[in-house]
Amino acid sequence: MVHCQACGITARNYGITFHRFPKNENKKCAWIDFVKKHKGLHEGQNFKCTTLCSQHFEESCFDKTSAMKVRLKPFSVPTIHVSRSKYLTLSLHYC
Ligand SMILES: [Zn+2]
Repeated sequence: MVHCQACGITARNYGITFHRFPKNENKKCAWIDFVKKHKGLHEGQNFKCTTLCSQHFEESCFDKTSAMKVRLKPFSVPTIHVSRSKYLTLSLHYC
């Protein structure tokens, strides 16, 4: 299942979209730095399968010209830290 590497959210709800790590090495490093800074990262992780959710990007990063798909503009980097505990609390509610 697709999930956000930074906050752990999995569901496609509340208008959240998921975005794969970029192929461009420089840009990818900026994304990885963001995840490392906020969450820690497993060494040797395969970033091809890793995504971040739209909560970590400024509104200005999104290209919403397509009605079908929300895309990130080129060279967008994640800047907004969302606490993972928010979602842990949600799941505990159902235990
Ligand atoms: Zn997230």
